[in-house]
Amino acid sequence: MDEYEEVSREELHAGLKKIRGRRWLLWLLIIAYMPIMLTAMRMENSGQAIVIAFALWVLLLIVVVAMMALVRCPRCGNCYHMSGITFRPVRKCFSCGLPLNADKKK
Ligand SMILES: [Zn+2]
Repeated sequence: MDEYEEVSREELHAGLKKIRGRRWLLWLLIIAYMPIMLTAMRMENSGQAIVIAFALWVLLLIVVVAMMALVRCPRCGNCYHMSGITFRPVRKCFSCGLPLNADKKK
C-alpha cells in the first residue's frame, strides 16, 4: 500500500514539469555567467560594469535558488530539494524519493 495520497498523472506531470523548469533556469543562469562577464569587460568603464553585472548575477542566483528550494513535490507536498535547512538539488524528492522523471515512465 502506498503511504502517499494518490495523485493523478496530470498533477504529477504538472508538478514535476515546474521542478524541471526551475532546474533549467538555474543551469541557464550558470551558463550565462561567462557571456555576461565578457560583455561587461568589453564595456567602457569596465570595472564598474563588472561589479554591477556580478551583483545582479548573484541577486538572480539567490532568487532562482530560492525558487528551487521552495518548489513543492507533487506527491508528498514537501519541498522537493530541501530537508530542514539542507538544500540538495538532486534528481529525486528529499522526502518521498519521487524521481524527477517519474511522469515519463510508464
Ligand atoms: Zn516528495
